[in-house]
Amino acid sequence: MTGGGAARSTNCSVCERLILPGESVRIFRDLERGGRRRPTCPLCHREARARGWVSDGDPRAEATGAGPDA
Ligand SMILES: [Zn+2]
Repeated sequence: MTGGGAARSTNCSVCERLILPGESVRIFRDLERGGRRRPTCPLCHREARARGWVSDGDPRAEATGAGPDA
């Protein structure tokens, strides 16, 4: 039992490390996969860009029609 908290664990899409509550995770979009969301920890933003992902809010990401959903 976890007590019914709303918090959901998130893993970094690059290093797969568990992103801790309060860490500034950034959502990148993998445009080659239809704008799939890629939560990325602060240490991996550069790697995410190297993979061709674009950060959420970037015009290129919004062009996929994925939208800033939850
Ligand atoms: Zn990472």
